[in-house]
Amino acid sequence: MDRIFWVRCPHCAGRFFCDYELRHAGLKLECPFCQRQFLPDESPELDERWFR
Ligand SMILES: [Zn+2]
Repeated sequence: MDRIFWVRCPHCAGRFFCDYELRHAGLKLECPFCQRQFLPDESPELDERWFR
């Protein structure tokens, strides 16, 4: 089972999920909708859950 978390892009408000390993990695996520990058903590919405 892999853990994921959902984020909302602060640029275009698109919602997508990422591998949980990236949650605290200090790496920027790339939005699949607008291709802009942001840190998980910059997301206006974070939803962490288990996912299989
Ligand atoms: Zn975006």
